[in-house]
Amino acid sequence: MPIKLATTVAGLRTEGARLLGSGQGRSQGLVPTMGALHEGHAALARAAVEQNDVVVATIFVNPLQFGDAVDLDRYPRTLDADLALLEDQGVDLVFAPPVEEVYPGGEPLVRITSGRLGEKWEGASRPGHFDGALTVVAKLLHYGLPAAGLPAAGAAPGGLPAYRAYFGQKDAQQLALVRRMVADLNFPVEIVGVPTVRAVDGLALSSRNRFLSGEEREAALVLSRALRLLEERADARQPLDLDSARALVESQPLVGLDYFEVVDPETLEPLAENCRQTPFSGEALALIAAKVGPVRLIDNAPLRS
Ligand code: AMP
Repeated sequence: MPIKLATTVAGLRTEGARLLGSGQGRSQGLVPTMGALHEGHAALARAAVEQNDVVVATIFVNPLQFGDAVDLDRYPRTLDADLALLEDQGVDLVFAPPVEEVYPGGEPLVRITSGRLGEKWEGASRPGHFDGALTVVAKLLHYGLPAAGLPAAGAAPGGLPAYRAYFGQKDAQQLALVRRMVADLNFPVEIVGVPTVRAVDGLALSSRNRFLSGEEREAALVLSRALRLLEERADARQPLDLDSARALVESQPLVGLDYFEVVDPETLEPLAENCRQTPFSGEALALIAAKVGPVRLIDNAPLRS
């Protein structure tokens, strides 16, 4: 079926309800994006299509999460190509509203507070970013509620449709925050994390990569190489030796390292000594952020030992 486009909440609700229909055991997936879509977004859409009867993707560049008006203005907007990519993955409906539809009264007076979890790492470099991001995610999750009634998270007792939303592990802090928001505030949706999609040379796909020159892109590979080093050590149950991985990044003159830490995957608190000295057991997350030329890049690697 050709993909449908809604630009109003009313249109989304009507078309969503029509697609979902009625009957037992129905499910709906939601894939929130800011557009300028690439294979990473396609992986989210494919996971949603595999697991749900109806899939809605959203495309909205959210002014509330940009600290810098220039960054907001230059964020790439490629709607036609995005619709084609989503249609190829089997997405049923795209919600791509104008700013006034999402914020009819201008900036909202009340917003979601990302709390302590939102103040560290990316939040420290981008004050207010996660409050803005969570606020729009909360709105999008509500707009996308399957129209047949209030669904239960995941399973669907009593015939209510299941509701799942898909987020990339690429944005690990955002994923952790969305999981906490949904758990702490009792949103009736199951959050599904999708592994990071990379280019063959290891660079994590990002809509911002297009702003890197050839030389900068080459330099940026040091981020995924450094993460790989930690993964290899974790797999071999050796001390992580974060210092030498950090030195590798700092040896690249075009890369300005912001942070590189090994943290608890849920609280994002640094693990003791960043596991420098001793092999760790269980799960950890290596987080890295750096400026490469004009672009701020983030990447991460789940570690298991
Ligand atoms: P964005 O459009 O950049 O806000 O991203 C929309 C969703 O796609 C978020 O959940 C991101 O984490 C996810 N995403 C972005 N890049 C990737 C990637 N390389 N691999 C997997 N998911 C990604």
